[in-house]
Amino acid sequence: MARDPRYDILFEPLKIGPVTAPNRFYQVPHCNGMGRVFPNAMIAMRGTKAEGGWGIVCTEQCDFLASGDASPYAETNMWDSGDEVYLGRMCEEVHRHGSLAGIELVHNGHDTPNLYSREIPIGPMNRPMNWSLAPIQARAMDKEDIRTYRRAHRQAAIRARDIGFDMVIVYAGHDGTVPSHFLARRHNQRTDEYGGSLENRLRLFRELLEETKEAIGDTTAVTVRFAVDEMMGPDGLEWQNEGREAVEMLAELPDLWDVNVADWDNDSKTSRFAPEGYQEEYVAFVKQVTTKPVSTVGRYTSPDAMVSAIRRGIVDLIGAARPSIADPFLPKKVEEGRIEDIRECIGCNVCVGWTQMTAPARCTQNPTFSEEWRKGWHPETAAPAQADEHVLIVGAGPAGLEAARVAGLRGYRVTLAEAGEELGGRVSRESRLPGLSAWARVRDYRIGQIQKMTNVEVYRSSRMTAAQIIELGADHVAIATGATWRRDGYGRHLSEPVPGTGAAHVLTPDDILAGRRPPGPGVLLFDDDHYYMASVIAELLSAEGYEVSLATPLPRIAAWMVHTLEHGANQDRLAEAGVTMLPNTTLIAVEAGQALLWNSVQRQESERQADGIVMVTSRTPEEGLYRELAQVLEATPGAAIGTLRRVGDCLAPGIIATAVYEGHRYARELGTAVDPCDVPFRRERHVIEAAAAS
Ligand code: ADP
Ligand code: SF4
Repeated sequence: MARDPRYDILFEPLKIGPVTAPNRFYQVPHCNGMGRVFPNAMIAMRGTKAEGGWGIVCTEQCDFLASGDASPYAETNMWDSGDEVYLGRMCEEVHRHGSLAGIELVHNGHDTPNLYSREIPIGPMNRPMNWSLAPIQARAMDKEDIRTYRRAHRQAAIRARDIGFDMVIVYAGHDGTVPSHFLARRHNQRTDEYGGSLENRLRLFRELLEETKEAIGDTTAVTVRFAVDEMMGPDGLEWQNEGREAVEMLAELPDLWDVNVADWDNDSKTSRFAPEGYQEEYVAFVKQVTTKPVSTVGRYTSPDAMVSAIRRGIVDLIGAARPSIADPFLPKKVEEGRIEDIRECIGCNVCVGWTQMTAPARCTQNPTFSEEWRKGWHPETAAPAQADEHVLIVGAGPAGLEAARVAGLRGYRVTLAEAGEELGGRVSRESRLPGLSAWARVRDYRIGQIQKMTNVEVYRSSRMTAAQIIELGADHVAIATGATWRRDGYGRHLSEPVPGTGAAHVLTPDDILAGRRPPGPGVLLFDDDHYYMASVIAELLSAEGYEVSLATPLPRIAAWMVHTLEHGANQDRLAEAGVTMLPNTTLIAVEAGQALLWNSVQRQESERQADGIVMVTSRTPEEGLYRELAQVLEATPGAAIGTLRRVGDCLAPGIIATAVYEGHRYARELGTAVDPCDVPFRRERHVIEAAAAS
């Protein structure tokens, strides 16, 4: 299909200093949990983005000095010529598809404890680590340190050019780099020419920019990534004041202004807390103060929103990290007039969560992310089925839908049977919770794809029994029947049922999602799950007029949300909703109209009035159907089913990303003999030096 002319502007080349981007799709630097630790995987992932049409594809942050060692995070680094090999390969892979390769040079200053290098961290001031709680202090950079730092930055920029990068990003953003630390009044109380006035605090950034331009600017674009607002009011940079003045002072120096808000929590807000394009109001001034091209991010997934941002004069380039993870082929799909095939990012930050745990990032929407090299998974294609076979998938939640989509893509004859009238399983239910409507994209993308496949039949309102499944006699059967929340409190902290949880006023998230409500105004949520569920139910019930308390055994409410960068915003939202937060608190018994609680810090029991209790602790797989079938197959070898498997929450309850991944994997592996003793992917190997001659 031809591209819709209204998107033509997205495909206009753009001159950025001495280089020209082929289009307006800019994959900004983003962490991915692979980097230098799993370089082959990182290279293949970046290559896939270029193949999918992103005109500029960047590295994640790339540290260039041992005193700015980003470990334990799996970023890239360029400390010496040994690092040129894998970064050079990344450039080749990006160039192979006609895209520009960019690199973001970084020193994390007083944010990085240098766990690997053991160098003393450096920054504008003598002060403890900022992000890290490690008992380590950074030391104030003296003039010699500043000279060394600038020299290393220049050297890294030259190396980057020499190995093929087209664009070098000088990075002052996210409250996480040496130039941004120097720029922030709260971090910089120096009295020399690098402290005090804005001009002085900006001096180091200006020097880096000028020196990089001078060193490589004739052939390589020298751009900036710059936070214009820290979203902390007058305590930080504000776009109306110093944020704007800083851009004005350096306006024509960089070849591109890539502007955003800081810190990372603010820059990568989830869809629960910010809509698409939410950074526009902060960065809109930039194009008015520079003639250089401008770019920003803001989880743009819709080509209409992208075109609008360009037409309204806010940006020239559309920056994207998460939308390019969820759909590496987004630009190609726009170009080919296949808008409905775009797999839109849902803004959940599971990708961020995994990189924060220093693991290869996974994506709720794109299960092939991080698997491009080690499993050879391509986001758009899969090997054709080797035989004309029939696959029955029971349950159309995220696991069943993805299994059906990929089995269909491979050419299997697929039957997808769903007990309910609605498809989507938990995704449909959960997307009705406050702030989670974008999660329905997980369902909608898959239904959209399946509807186009003549070899996939979907049956709604079809609760399958074991007898019906046997009678159908499919070659392969996948049971994707999901999981249910437990009512008895069993979970991470409690291994025995909480007394009294059998009472009618004790509910689970499944009850709430099905429309049941506590019998009176006072509700206690017991959260031993530590992710979003208890918080969004608290928000929902509070909006409905209940008086809500949320108790959790951990010192933090929804502790895992630190990884998705949502913890602060979640806490603010609960406070605004008037939810009483009870950290360090375990539910020990349920009684009529009240809950008995234990505070592990005060080491005290207390009673709390509660007309209703909602238990958010753990889930049990809905595996009855699978067990029944497995028994029949065992008793009747040669029964008319070839293979029987469980997928998704029915195999092991998890996050939606896991259900999608497992459904995908099931369909990819159909027709392949998999030995569970084997490692199910290619591994990266270190080169081990030969023993020294004795
Ligand atoms: P997952 O996250 O693993 O995809 P979900 O709980 O979201 O799991 O979805 C499971 C789906 O399976 C639900 O939509 C449910 O209605 C459906 N289901 C459960 N039992 C049956 C059955 N016997 N026949 C058909 N569908 C079923
Ligand atoms: Fe988007 Fe979630 Fe995928 Fe990240 S994990 S790219 S936020 S869908």
